[in-house]
Amino acid sequence: MKSNEKKEHEKKIIKEMIKIYCAKNHHQKDLCDECLDLYTYATKRIDCCPFTETKSFCSACKVHCYQKEYRHQVRQVMRFSGKYMLFYHPVMTIKHGLVSLKERRNQHVQ
Ligand SMILES: [Zn+2]
Repeated sequence: MKSNEKKEHEKKIIKEMIKIYCAKNHHQKDLCDECLDLYTYATKRIDCCPFTETKSFCSACKVHCYQKEYRHQVRQVMRFSGKYMLFYHPVMTIKHGLVSLKERRNQHVQ
């Protein structure tokens, strides 16, 4: 996959995750200001990321390029939306390794 395509794809995923998080936690149909801000920040990070071609996804990246507050926020979003992503977008999720093996196993048990 070309670097640009991958970036666009990554943006799509992060948007889906933030959308799920916002809908369930802030009860907004579209992104609220706070989540929109996080999304805008995340897309900027993706655009600036020099590792797009080698890494799988931001959450798996060893270089934590997010600022402290945003990092905390995005982690919450990932933790929360990860399980929903598996449900709504299983192929996308598994392909990107968003959900760890352990979490996947738990899903099957439940
Ligand atoms: Zn929100």
